[in-house]
Amino acid sequence: MNFEAVIGLEIHVQLNSPTKMFCDCPNRPADPPNLNTCPTCLWLPGALPVFSRNVLEKAILLCLSLNCEIQATSAFDQKVYYYPDLPKGFQLSQFHKPLSKNGWLDIVTGEAETRRLRIRKIHMEEDVARLVHETEDHKQISLVDFNRAGAPLVEIVTEPDMHSSYDAMEFLKALRRQMRYSGSSQCSMEQGTMRVDANISLRPEKSEEFNTKVEVKNMNSIRNVGDAIDYEIARQKDSKEKGGEIVLHTRLWDPDKKITSPMRGKFEGPCIPDPAVSTIVITEGYVNEIKARLPEMPDKKITRFIQQYGLTEQEASLISSELDLSLYFEDTVKKGASPRTVVHWLTSTMTSCIRERGLSWSDLPVSAENFANLLGMLERNEITSKATKKVLSVMFDTDKTPETIVKELDLKQVSDINELEALVEKLLSGNHDAVESLKKGNEKVMDFLVGQAMRESKGRANPRIIAEIIAGKIK
Ligand SMILES: [Zn+2]
Repeated sequence: MNFEAVIGLEIHVQLNSPTKMFCDCPNRPADPPNLNTCPTCLWLPGALPVFSRNVLEKAILLCLSLNCEIQATSAFDQKVYYYPDLPKGFQLSQFHKPLSKNGWLDIVTGEAETRRLRIRKIHMEEDVARLVHETEDHKQISLVDFNRAGAPLVEIVTEPDMHSSYDAMEFLKALRRQMRYSGSSQCSMEQGTMRVDANISLRPEKSEEFNTKVEVKNMNSIRNVGDAIDYEIARQKDSKEKGGEIVLHTRLWDPDKKITSPMRGKFEGPCIPDPAVSTIVITEGYVNEIKARLPEMPDKKITRFIQQYGLTEQEASLISSELDLSLYFEDTVKKGASPRTVVHWLTSTMTSCIRERGLSWSDLPVSAENFANLLGMLERNEITSKATKKVLSVMFDTDKTPETIVKELDLKQVSDINELEALVEKLLSGNHDAVESLKKGNEKVMDFLVGQAMRESKGRANPRIIAEIIAGKIK
């Protein structure tokens, strides 16, 4: 029998609001342990939570970037369970009345068709504390860090609209791009600001039934999510074919062994309305006010880049993959560089310069103006593309302008015909065999001679002009 996979995702995202969810403590979980705490987020008896407006704004921005409807009223519940990282015995979460419902994102499937994937709801939730396991005097000890306690999270729950690991990975990439554009979260799976759980079940192909699902947790990259889904589909298929039953349970992904294995389920307590935090009432006017703060989103930007700058669809979507990258691209073009040259250099040399130094597009040390001036020199044939790479690399590590660096390193390309003629003259007289071979039509020799000329001029000769002069001389 052929099976179809039915996949839904639950994604936890940490908001980058300045404060925690119910107090004014800084929202910086990575600070030294227990630095950012107060009676409210230590959950001491009697300390009352006050819901932060700056958290609400970030959460609404995020929901709007995912085409979700903001609910006029939403409220917090107590999700009751006890664990050492949750000593108050309940987590404030929106169960009965979530902040937002009915969103969607479009993806392009493996079959190259656009498909709309639905988001069922997005709700807010406070994070729990973090347990740190250490050894002291040969004894195992566990410590609790409350920096993360009360940090603002949202949970995004999708409809089970995905049918392959490809769908899920494309959805997550689109989701991450939208949320980063909205400025509400860093969305880094590696750093734990975005965590994904996948619910996976199988059904006979072309049926509409929903069968028992298995939840997979602990994936720390989008690639991992894809691998875990593929593994789980194969495992369930194998089990069904052998006549086994799928039982509802949770499994952990092991990224080293590339397998899932069962984990003990967490006790799920009841969800009861919280009496301390007031109901959140949101007017349409307030939603519109926040909507106006969203930047131009990727879909619109891609279309505009194609029309305005003559980029291909692939170039436009590459440049729009991150907001800061797209802004830098446009700034550089406005300073006079030609769009496709900018795209080429941004997606090649510039990207590797950034990766080598562990930077991101938001903390680029090269100003758009300097970058545009550098590319201008290249386009006017004043420097070679090899020299451009060199200058760019120096620009990353100093504040010098490209003009200064070119002068200091003596990289100005020699395009003066007389000077180049003399260079070729000298070269040909010293390479008789090569000249004879070239005359007989051995084209490879041309590359050799141009290479020699480049070496002789320390990379400053214009290779195109050199090749022309050589061709003219041997006729
Ligand atoms: Zn606090």
